[in-house]
Amino acid sequence: MTVLPVREYIRQGGFRIAAPALLFPSKFSKHNRMTDNEQFDVIIVGGSYSGLAAGMALGRALRKVVIIDDVKPCNRQTPFSHNFLTNDGKSPAEIAAVANLQVKRYDTIKLFNGLATGGISNENGFEIRVSSGETFAAKKIIFATGIRDMLPGIDGLAACWGISVLHCPYCHGYEIKNEKTGIISNGDGGFDFARLILNWTKNVIIFTNGVSKFSTEQIKQLENHKIKIVEKEIERLEHNNGYLQHIIFRDGTNESAKALYAPVTFEQHCAIPESMGCQLTDDGYIKVDPFLETTVKDMYACGDNAARIRTVANAVAMGTMAGMAVSKKMILNEF
Ligand SMILES: Cc1cc2nc3c(=O)[nH]c(=O)nc-3n(C[C@H](O)[C@H](O)[C@H](O)COP(=O)(O)OP(=O)(O)OC[C@H]3O[C@@H](n4cnc5c(N)ncnc54)[C@H](O)[C@@H]3O)c2cc1C
Repeated sequence: MTVLPVREYIRQGGFRIAAPALLFPSKFSKHNRMTDNEQFDVIIVGGSYSGLAAGMALGRALRKVVIIDDVKPCNRQTPFSHNFLTNDGKSPAEIAAVANLQVKRYDTIKLFNGLATGGISNENGFEIRVSSGETFAAKKIIFATGIRDMLPGIDGLAACWGISVLHCPYCHGYEIKNEKTGIISNGDGGFDFARLILNWTKNVIIFTNGVSKFSTEQIKQLENHKIKIVEKEIERLEHNNGYLQHIIFRDGTNESAKALYAPVTFEQHCAIPESMGCQLTDDGYIKVDPFLETTVKDMYACGDNAARIRTVANAVAMGTMAGMAVSKKMILNEF
């Protein structure tokens, strides 16, 4: 297949708008549609950064791969992605577009646009079912399904997520350096996070969103660093297209800030690995060995679903590693 520059790809209609809003490429042309129960060497569930990297490693090793993806990467709302060498400052959609173009070059790789809804193991390997009814069979599976953020139920926060409400200073701290920056946090975790953020700005304000759980010693240290603590409950965030303007408190007062860090909890984006027997760590990640094999033989996991380090670079690195590990195992087994 001819590889087009991204701009030309977009011009020729290579992008379709995916729900609800995201300019992620639809990479699944008609000739790529599967027939029922087509046999593959490897099924990859999740075709974002990690899944595509795994697919590329396998496709280049002449393995027949299907990548099933319903195009909901976790960073889809953030306008710019940082700290990924060669792609710093590009939008997530731009990075995904280049990744898709490069993966589509390999005739060993099929891309399927859809939601995987369940899986079974049998004597031949595995079968994955998708919501449109097709099933795919393979000897090995890689889950590159990511995680889903569970955002605090503060009105306006979801609209600001990834734009001015942030999760990681290494991804977004430079862009708001020296700016007035809030942190929604409390207790020991909040104290440690405030110490970290002080590296990027000395203008830090903590919103405990309720009664403070800081110790007297922690309060003293925060005061020494001129970090203000606001103990009020937050009612909502006032914003302009996701760009924070004011934090509005339940008592009617408000505070301005350029951006807010909000530590959020998460769940696995996809329940299939657990339903097929993969164990999770106490923190909620898929348990993997150093070669990214899960607790179920021949089932692998890579990217956010199996790692605490949450960056595109790490997701790509893990995907490449999972792809190479699966390929090498198959090659040696077949010898
Ligand atoms: C708001 C935000 C901003 C970020 N900013 C940065 C940044 O600036 N720099 C940086 O390096 N990192 C950033 N990150 C982290 C980065 O986005 C992740 O580390 C990266 O996306 C992980 O890639 P992944 O492939 O593991 O998972 P994801 O990108 O989340 O992709 C998982 C894919 O699997 C698919 N999927 C899941 N379940 C199924 C299923 N059952 N069937 C079919 N498909 C399925 C999803 O639709 C999705 O396409 C940010 C994260 C967030 C949340």
